[in-house]
Parts: sequence; structure tokens; C-alpha cells
Amino acid sequence: MANKVLLISQQEIADLVKRLAYELDRDYRDRTPVLVGVLKGSFVFLADLIRQMQTPIRNIELMRLSSYGSATVSSGEVKMLMGLTLGVATHQDVILIEDIVDTGLSTSTALQAIQIQNPASLKLCALLSKPSRRQVSVEIDYLGVTIGDRFVVGYGIDMDEQYRQLPAIYALED
Ligand code: 5GP
Ligand code: MG
Ligand code: MG
Repeated sequence: MANKVLLISQQEIADLVKRLAYELDRDYRDRTPVLVGVLKGSFVFLADLIRQMQTPIRNIELMRLSSYGSATVSSGEVKMLMGLTLGVATHQDVILIEDIVDTGLSTSTALQAIQIQNPASLKLCALLSKPSRRQVSVEIDYLGVTIGDRFVVGYGIDMDEQYRQLPAIYALED
């Protein structure tokens, strides 16, 4: 069984989320954005982020992608398990909310799915990024923090559907 090592504490996460909400409020002052969360991993982050934002949010939408299966290494194949509802992004200021950008494959799939609906603008907000693992380049407009090449769990992020409930973020080590 893998060992859990604390990587980002509950307090540190709260500070990151507050800072991201501040940046979004600053940039979306006169707009009412649509937030699109990528399930399942982003649901805790999304829930905390929206409650720190002052900006009126027009709509919160969800899509569900799967890339990992039960392994701790990305399969490289992104499955769209639940697509974006037709037209919700059209002419809207859309912010995509991601838990982690790792290879970038699922995030770029999600961005494309939004882009084809012709949004007024599209930005990406991600809590974590692992740039050393990138396979396709993804521009992250609002980033919580960069981490090394470690497999993390907690704060909505799972290993084989477990550990999502942990309030902090841990690295799993053998
Ligand atoms: P990507 O398509 O960028 O390789 O990976 C995107 C998704 O893979 C993330 O949204 C997340 O769900 C999952 N993933 C990437 N890195 C990790 C990790 O360190 N731990 C866990 N549990 N999932 C990860
Ligand atoms: Mg994700
Ligand atoms: Mg997962």
C-alpha cells in the first residue's frame, strides 16, 4: 500500500483558492462568466472557488472526462463521459476549471469541446500543474501551484475513486 505524504495543507489550499478567486474577480469585474468544471476531480475545488468569488456567475456547467482509468499513469486516451450541454458556452465568457493539468491531453480536449461552441472568451483555471509531464502545450491563465512529477490525491482528486474526501493534498509514494 502506498504511503501518503502531505504536499499541500488545508490552509495552503484555502490561500491558493482565495488568491485565484481574487484574480478572477479582478479580471471579470464587468462580466458574468460561465464556469465549466471538469468532473470528477475538480468538484471540490469548484465548490470552494465559487464561494470565494464575488463576480456574479451566469452559469455553472459540468463535463466529465476520464483519462486515467485505475492506473496512476495517464492512459493517453481521453474519454468524454459527459459532454458539454449544447450551446451553454456560445457567446459566453467561459472559464474552464481543472484540478490538475498533467499531460494536458484531457484539458485540451475540454478546451476544444468549449471552443467549438464559439464562446466570447475562454480561459483556464487549474489548481495544480505538472509541467514536466506535458505532452501537449496548454496555457493556464489562472494557476494555483506547480508541482513535480508526483501522483497526488485528496481535495477531490482520487486514486481508483478513493481519497477524494481528504481535505488536504497528498503525494502517494511506494
Ligand atoms: P492529463 O490529461 O493532463 O494527463 O490529466 C488530466 C487528469 O488526470 C487530471 O484532471 C486528473 O483527473 C488526472 N491526474 C493527473 N495527474 C494526477 C495525479 O497526480 N493524481 C491523480 N489522482 N490524478 C491525476
Ligand atoms: Mg481533471
Ligand atoms: Mg482520477
